[in-house]
Amino acid sequence: MKNVKSIYLDHAATTKPYDEVVSLFTKIETEHYGNSASIHGLGIDALSLLNKARELILKSFGLNKGYKVIFTSGATEANNLAILGYCLKHIHRGKHIITSNVEHPSVLECFKYLESQGFDVTYLKVNKDGVVEPQELIKAMTDKTILVSLMSTNNEIGSMNNLEELSKIVHQYPKAVFHSDTTQSIGKDKVNFSLIDMFAISGHKVHGLKGSGCLILKENVDLEPLVFGGGQEDGLRSGTVPVALACSLAKAISIVQSKISIESLRIAKIHQQFLVNLEKIDGLEFNSNEHGSPYILNFSLTHKKASVVVEALSNLGIYVSSVSACNSKREPMSYVVEALGKNSVASHNTIRLSFGDDNTEEDAELFTRELNKVLENIR
Ligand code: PMP
Repeated sequence: MKNVKSIYLDHAATTKPYDEVVSLFTKIETEHYGNSASIHGLGIDALSLLNKARELILKSFGLNKGYKVIFTSGATEANNLAILGYCLKHIHRGKHIITSNVEHPSVLECFKYLESQGFDVTYLKVNKDGVVEPQELIKAMTDKTILVSLMSTNNEIGSMNNLEELSKIVHQYPKAVFHSDTTQSIGKDKVNFSLIDMFAISGHKVHGLKGSGCLILKENVDLEPLVFGGGQEDGLRSGTVPVALACSLAKAISIVQSKISIESLRIAKIHQQFLVNLEKIDGLEFNSNEHGSPYILNFSLTHKKASVVVEALSNLGIYVSSVSACNSKREPMSYVVEALGKNSVASHNTIRLSFGDDNTEEDAELFTRELNKVLENIR
């Protein structure tokens, strides 16, 4: 039977778009529908909106001159453009590239592809907290290293890399650039974006629209395009630019970035309340730790099947993830939790709670009560 109140605890998978984002999208799509490449009035109007969207995005990250915003369909495309685009362009400089073993598939699959094309790839192993040890990066860097890609916040367990230290190490090598998949940090964690050469953003993770996203990169970083055609987006992503999506993305980013300080404290309290309550339940093993993002709380079930629990909770109107939504159709097992050194039962039975705007501390009480019942009732 459904609860009176449904609880959405899957904000790392996607978020509900803000009303003002949807209305801005509709307004631009209907009233300012010109092609931003057209030289007539409607085109100029669209181009001006597009330029304002770029400015607002950079401003939201404390960046201004010296950076480019390339609009994409989301973070997957932004990560692909950054990694493949950089390596294809600079293959003559060196063929060594570095990433970690807990990256999102949109990063890992690029590295696997490049490996199949002759690149030498180092997959850094994370420590038991899910973090890349700077010492490991120091050991891996060589004069042939051209790209290092390490995520800011892990989407499954919320572990956070120390981008400051990692980027300093990379920048001691003049040939190497530092890319970061910052998808799960936008509007959540304070990141010094000026330390990163390229970073990826997804609209739908920040109350924007699905199909929107961007890659932000330093102006002096050259990429090879992956999509060819009319040369839009500085030649890096041909195709008519979806101005309304770009503006809605800028709006969503500016809202979430402006709320970080207050909202992250509120979420930290909610996280703590969930943790205190969940620690009283037998048969849970925690995969997140206190150094990670407050927005994600991941645990494994030691005696029950996670997929059955997720379904039972869903029937009650409580929405959580087992393995991340991007990976769940491939294999029901978390390579991220496995990388922490956990056993097979733990990595096959993870539950991820990811918090957001609409959660409250009361949700912790309701969730724990219902989880307890579910765990008692299923075999
Ligand atoms: N990177 C991370 C860390 C993510 O969590 C996601 C979404 N699950 C992506 C990349 C891909 O984002 P998108 O859905 O916008 O392609």
